[in-house]
Amino acid sequence: MSAALSLESLKAQAERLSFRSQAFIDGRFVDAADGRTFECISPIDGRVLAKVAACDAADVDRAVTAARRAFEDGRWRNKAPGERKRILLRFAELIEQHATELALLETLDMGKPIRDSANIDIPAVIKCIRWYAEAIDKVYDEIAPTPPDALAMITREPLGVVGAVVPWNFPLLMAAWKIAPALATGNSMVVKPAEQSPLSAIRAAELASEAGVPDGVLNVVPGFGETAGQALGRHMDVDCIAFTGSAEVGKYFLRYAGESNMKRVSLECGGKTPNIVMADAPDLDAAATAAAWGIFFNQGEVCNAGSRLLVEEPIKDVLLEKIAAVAKKIRIGDPLDPATQMGAIVDDTQLERILGYIEEGRKEGARLALGGRRILSETGGYYVEPTVFDNVANDMKIAQEEIFGPVLATITFKDPDEAIRIGNDTIFGLAAAVWTRDINKALRAARALRAGSVWINCFDAGDITTPFGGFKQSGFGRDKSLHAMEKYTEIKTTWIQID
Ligand code: NAD
Repeated sequence: MSAALSLESLKAQAERLSFRSQAFIDGRFVDAADGRTFECISPIDGRVLAKVAACDAADVDRAVTAARRAFEDGRWRNKAPGERKRILLRFAELIEQHATELALLETLDMGKPIRDSANIDIPAVIKCIRWYAEAIDKVYDEIAPTPPDALAMITREPLGVVGAVVPWNFPLLMAAWKIAPALATGNSMVVKPAEQSPLSAIRAAELASEAGVPDGVLNVVPGFGETAGQALGRHMDVDCIAFTGSAEVGKYFLRYAGESNMKRVSLECGGKTPNIVMADAPDLDAAATAAAWGIFFNQGEVCNAGSRLLVEEPIKDVLLEKIAAVAKKIRIGDPLDPATQMGAIVDDTQLERILGYIEEGRKEGARLALGGRRILSETGGYYVEPTVFDNVANDMKIAQEEIFGPVLATITFKDPDEAIRIGNDTIFGLAAAVWTRDINKALRAARALRAGSVWINCFDAGDITTPFGGFKQSGFGRDKSLHAMEKYTEIKTTWIQID
């Protein structure tokens, strides 16, 4: 974000924004077939930003039909790889040119601080699209080691129509993690953004079209999960659903696939990440800062948030003091203010959910060590203080269920084996972190922890080159890296007999 952007100039730009609020189908903006809309509310102050098309099964069917037509006639998948690359690079460039606008859309729509949407979300979207665009003409297929009288080619082909159903916590980034590899591999797509945060995906589809992505290749159908999401999940002509969201809804998609056309499903679901701090952590200040930001970043609305702090008994008090010191300095407030570090919770439902868990934690006998209250309610928005629970037992609800808010549960352990046992005692397996200066302890823990990502002496590290996804009920399939392309392609063997 340019240093020149002040709160006043961002507010002025936000006032001038015109929101795209229709569905984007077959290269055009259209209303929902039955004309219905839903209110898109900003969690910053409870204001209605726009009335957005409430797509239903009929609209999903229109979008899938357009996507299928585009796939069958080859207008995208049969383009020369270099041409698809050029168009996707142009798409990334247009996003870069409209970066402030898109960052504002994210912040207004879901309440994250503008410094995060401008410096983290949108740059990551651009990088993701560029990375997969560049991969298009660099990834080769295979020739099998057959006997000399045969040639067997193992080629990857696009699946066809990919449905992407995404959440609201990183609205455009979660969509980009699916759009970039699915389009790079030649598929057509129908994207359903979360009803809490549809604006950036709709605008991005328009930019893709401007970049030269042909009509029908990238469609966006805003709407609710039970209607638009379910219709996509059950559609007989959708070849694959790439889902990010809760484990509960992830299971619905498995059912939809089983009850319809056995479409492929990949699931990026929730987490309850153990952040394990051993007494021999190399730098307790660094561990405390990472532990605080590991749960308070993005208001705690992060799938791999370090929501369980597992700390070796002798250092618990000092670590909690350091975490509290970091938390007390966090600036919470107007997400449009570039100085704000923690913004609003996405909506009133999520606010109530978080406050409900805090109440539950108290009732279960955990000690509220910091925070625990709603604040800034006079703004009309939904804000919660950074909250830390001490004396948590791993079988308490606040240690087992995904809160998706700024609530840390502190659990102590006596030795590394106990830390690993508690760390793994969860239905989730998205990520884990270990802080120790002992390389043997670190590597033993990394091997024993059942999680898709393990961080040693850091937290939430990674980039577009590293796969991201879960073990256990955190789902299956990976976003990011070349592995993501596996989700959107079929393997074909062509065996040629040689005389
Ligand atoms: P959610 O599961 O409620 O919704 C996700 C998407 O599914 C939304 O688009 C929603 O409209 C749709 N949906 C909801 N009910 C549906 C139904 N019955 N049928 C079809 N579609 C339906 O999740 P959320 O509250 O938007 O997001 C938070 C969740 O996302 C958390 O559990 C978080 O851990 C997870 N998440 C995971 C990752 C990851 O990469 N693993 C990343 C971000 C968020």
